[in-house]
Amino acid sequence: MQPRLIVHGGAWSIPDERDDTHIKGVSRAISEVYPLLKKGLSAVDAVEKAVCVMEEDPIFDAGRGSVLNIDGEIEMDASIMDGKNLAFGAVAALQNILHPIKVAKLVMTETEHCLLVGTGAQKFAQAHFIPEVAPEELLTESELEFYRKVKEEKNYTTKIPFEPFPEGTVGAVALDIEGNLAAATSTGGTSRKIAGRVGDTPILGAGTFADNESGAASATGWGEAIMKSFLSKTACEC
Ligand code: ASP
Repeated sequence: MQPRLIVHGGAWSIPDERDDTHIKGVSRAISEVYPLLKKGLSAVDAVEKAVCVMEEDPIFDAGRGSVLNIDGEIEMDASIMDGKNLAFGAVAALQNILHPIKVAKLVMTETEHCLLVGTGAQKFAQAHFIPEVAPEELLTESELEFYRKVKEEKNYTTKIPFEPFPEGTVGAVALDIEGNLAAATSTGGTSRKIAGRVGDTPILGAGTFADNESGAASATGWGEAIMKSFLSKTACEC
């Protein structure tokens, strides 16, 4: 079977002057991972690797480059799903980890659970030797600048970033040579979210869905709306 790999780098309005860096970021994920998929890498490993490449890139709102919440902290969500057996793993409100998607995958492969949050997810990551990084390693200059500016605006809501701000959640879907599907998504969430807010990304069927029988999808956009419409599963059923 001819393998397929599709990635995205978010749905916010990207200003023209940042088009290039976004295109480079998503192209890098494809050029690093697609050759491996052609050589037989499984769909689930391919989506994890593609998301890892984009989590490292500070242009995206995932891993390095994640947005700050209202308290000036980074809390990240991620999930992964294997369409072959409907295995699913996710983490929410994770801090100080460059690759939340790796922790989500370990939840899927090493536990009987689907979703770990906060301190529990943090401990789980440590127990699996996922390195912690200093918060500054995930934070970009432009995000800090934006945070300081917006903090002064009393009427700010998480819907506002749809207007001018560029960063984006990352995601990938893949079809491997054996015909299996997988999907993965990783995000720092929405700008200025309340601490503890969890978006669509780690919610099965909302931010991520994969089933060999129907399809695979990774969502981006305003998480509260995506959750209500159960978007990724709904899209696969259409
Ligand atoms: N869907 C993400 C969230 O609401 C944000 C995004 O896609 O950029 O957490």
